[in-house]
Amino acid sequence: MKRVILAAGLVVVALLAAACGDSDETAATTGGEAGTISVAAAFYPIEEAVRTVGGERVEVTNLVPPGGAAHDLELSGEAAAAIETADLVLYLGEGFQTSVESAVANRGDADSAIDLLDGVDLRGADAPVPGVVGEVDGTLIAGGVKDPHFWVDPALFGSMVETVRDALVAADPEGEPTYAANAEAYLAEVEDLDAEFAAGLEACRGKALVTSHAAFGYLADRYGLLQAPIAGISPEEEPDPKSLAATAAFAKKNGVTTVFFETLVPKDLAETVAAEIGAKTDALDPVEGIPQDQLDAGASYLTIQRDNLTRLESGLGCTTG
Ligand SMILES: [Zn+2]
Repeated sequence: MKRVILAAGLVVVALLAAACGDSDETAATTGGEAGTISVAAAFYPIEEAVRTVGGERVEVTNLVPPGGAAHDLELSGEAAAAIETADLVLYLGEGFQTSVESAVANRGDADSAIDLLDGVDLRGADAPVPGVVGEVDGTLIAGGVKDPHFWVDPALFGSMVETVRDALVAADPEGEPTYAANAEAYLAEVEDLDAEFAAGLEACRGKALVTSHAAFGYLADRYGLLQAPIAGISPEEEPDPKSLAATAAFAKKNGVTTVFFETLVPKDLAETVAAEIGAKTDALDPVEGIPQDQLDAGASYLTIQRDNLTRLESGLGCTTG
């Protein structure tokens, strides 16, 4: 069974790689002018937190090119160099990006590389629908299949912002007033977002959140939803009829009227399940990366999450007060 899951995972990884094949692999982004300290951030949400809290004191490098897939990152030479030379490295362990973990292990200075999963009470990967193979993202996360997607929960993202602030202060004590003020303003916005989610998802017709990519477990836990990912089935394979039938039965039993798929992932599976039960499909964004054109248009963690909330309220039939 494990081998089957792994094989399916590899196909998904290949698809993800193909989906972002047009982005320049060496195009790791740099935000801000030359700052007092340099930070290597493993993927977009961390980069945004560092950029916002650090302001002009910090030069941040995102190891993932804009719009690229964060999972199972293949390090570009530029990204590897950034990990080696940065004053501070902020990453996720637990097999989320093993290439980053290896580069961090070779860095030597352990204190200035922080695994942001360390402070998180990690949830296991979901398999809530009987008969459906459980996995996270088509990838078996090393060490007991832990779900890394904590940042999708605004409250846990806020905790991460605090960790980022403290790490910047430790690396650059003179910048403490700047970091504290920037973090306070940013955290106020994140807390507003959390409150909007809590209010918006309080009274919904359905609690079952059927998604194609199991990225919304922490968010579901936070706001009383039940995530049912369509997982263990690759779009390139003949869909496993038993798993699809189980997901469809679950969705039907729970009155699901919208099946969600994720940006950056093919939506065939969501459409198959939706067609089976006569539901619509809609997109959710797990905020793992933002394409450059969307960044240029002002997209951020906050704007994407508000868009997610609007789609969730509509798809789950929530009465907004
Ligand atoms: Zn993911």
